[in-house]
Amino acid sequence: MTAGPLLEVRDVAKRFGGLAALDGCSLALEAGQVTGLIGPNGAGKSTLLNVMTGLVRADRGSVLFEGRDVTAVSAHRFPALGMARTFQIVRELGSLTVFENLLVAPRLQTGEGVVASIFGRRKWWAEESANAQKAKALLDRVGLFRLADHPSGGLSGGQKKLLDLARALLLEPKLILLDEPGAGVAPPLKIEMIRLIRELKAEGVSFGLVEHDMHLVGELCDRVHVMAEGKRLVSGTFEEVSKDRRVVEAYLGV
Ligand code: ADP
Ligand code: MG
Repeated sequence: MTAGPLLEVRDVAKRFGGLAALDGCSLALEAGQVTGLIGPNGAGKSTLLNVMTGLVRADRGSVLFEGRDVTAVSAHRFPALGMARTFQIVRELGSLTVFENLLVAPRLQTGEGVVASIFGRRKWWAEESANAQKAKALLDRVGLFRLADHPSGGLSGGQKKLLDLARALLLEPKLILLDEPGAGVAPPLKIEMIRLIRELKAEGVSFGLVEHDMHLVGELCDRVHVMAEGKRLVSGTFEEVSKDRRVVEAYLGV
């Protein structure tokens, strides 16, 4: 174990043309906690998540996971390191069933082709049945077991988010980065999402949570970083940052 934070971002900058999406952003996610990343639209939250997971290359700065520099690591290698993520817009394979989505997920996440993975391994059947068992257990856990044989394209917004979370859990990550898990989710499933994240945290999983739903942030986050204009503006508990004048001003755009 390292003594420092689980994930650390140091002075990260990223420009898209003339626009500075990230402009010297530094922050940390502690092990065992749910850390919130909040801030007005365009603050750079999704870009930061993309830099943290190797999907976007920063122009400057570094990312450390468990003290190791992962700035130049490609996105498909992050799951093997112990980091998984979900997406603001869930990318489920709509024509596959809910169950099939979980079976192909680990291969897609590690960048392994489906064909190569089927023909390139000797212990294929043994692995396949172990994966199937795990996939079933996870579907049960997120409450989607009864929909296992349904096409995933027919799921509701909230059910897709739960499927995305189940996919992230397949590789037993230490850290899961969630991009707006509450967006487009009906209230009963939001309660389910909160319950699941709390349960996983109690089992030792750490989370980074980008979220606009302040109820969810207040319920889940041990600590919150408020971002504005590509930087970290303020950090603290949800209570502390919600009272901060700079945060109110950033949201109002004054
Ligand atoms: P947030 O998630 O906080 O709303 P984003 O990280 O999505 O913010 O975006 C930060 C800024 O960068 C926005 O002005 C956005 O329009 C811009 N941006 C993000 N991604 C791209 C991209 N791929 N190309 C051009 N501009 C982008
Ligand atoms: Mg975003």
